Order: sequence, then structure tokens, then C-alpha cells
Amino acid sequence: MVAELSHLPGIGQKTAQRLAYHIVSMPLEDVHALATAIWQGRKAIRYCGVCGNYAAGDTCSVCGNPERHNGQICVVRDPRDVAAMERMHDFTGLYHVLHGTLSPMDGVGPDDIRIKELVARLGTENVTEVILATNPDIEGEATATYIARLLKPLGVKVTRIAHGVPVGSDLEYADEVTLSKAMEGRREM
Ligand SMILES: [Zn+2]
Repeated sequence: MVAELSHLPGIGQKTAQRLAYHIVSMPLEDVHALATAIWQGRKAIRYCGVCGNYAAGDTCSVCGNPERHNGQICVVRDPRDVAAMERMHDFTGLYHVLHGTLSPMDGVGPDDIRIKELVARLGTENVTEVILATNPDIEGEATATYIARLLKPLGVKVTRIAHGVPVGSDLEYADEVTLSKAMEGRREM
């Protein structure tokens, strides 16, 4: 149990041990409820067939909302970034989740993240602006540049969020005001 728990993010050996001791002292039915909640929560999660966000059904709640189809697609690295953007309440368009960023050092190329799917959406949806909101780190910038070069010839407006988000930091941890400013100050690529 300690080994499994220590694989979780932010859980070191000591914390894993502490959690394990706690779990073995819990009533069996409480442990069952916890294990079931984790298992069922994980099993119920699927990815949106359109944008790649977490979804309970075939499409996520954003794609399923007709009012969000305003021509804007905000491109992010992973579903946690969608959650961060949604907390800001400013953005009213749709998302596209890449599920990664280009990282040649780690062998992650354009075919390994959901770039093809983004290009395909330009053909099937009425898209007026693609906002590149990948993290302002080396991989995020390289990914934004790559996508911008790919999309520009297709005649769509491509913008990049401003650097209100501190360089080298994660979008996920940016506060709403910073994120809001970053969206406001986006520039065309
Ligand atoms: Zn979706």
C-alpha cells in the first residue's frame, strides 16, 4: 500500500506511510467507500470527443453548451488548464486540449499530441480565432510557435496569451486575475 500511495504526486515515502497507517486503522466499510469512490470516479471519466477535455459523456460540458460556440478555440496543454481558465469566468469560447506539449528531448513530436485533431476542427467548425494558451515555458512556447505556423496559412486568426503568466510557471497555478490579464493582452502571431 505504501508503495502504491507514494506514486501519487506530492506524496513522499513518509506521507505514504502515514496515510497507510491511517487507512489500516479505518473501519473496513470506510476504506471500501474510499476505494469505491476512487475507482468509480476514475472509471466515469472520459475525454471529450471534440476538445479532449474531461467529460462524463461523449462531449464535455463546454462543447455541449451551444452558447460557447462563438468561433474562439483556446488551446491548452491538459484538462487541468481548462479548469483554470473556467475559474476565470471570462472566456466564453471553446477549448482544445493537446494532452502534452512538444518536447523533442523527451521524444514528444507533433503526432504525439492532439494537433491533427485541432487542424481537423478548423475544417468542420466555424473557427475565427485560435488562442494559444500553452504554458510560457520552453515547451509551451515551442508548441505555440509550431501550431501558429501550421494554422496561419489556413486563414484563421492565431493569437498567443500575454506573459501576465509568469515565465516558466504553470497555467494551472496562475490566479484568475493574472490569467484574465493574459487573455486580455493576447497578441496575434
Ligand atoms: Zn469538449
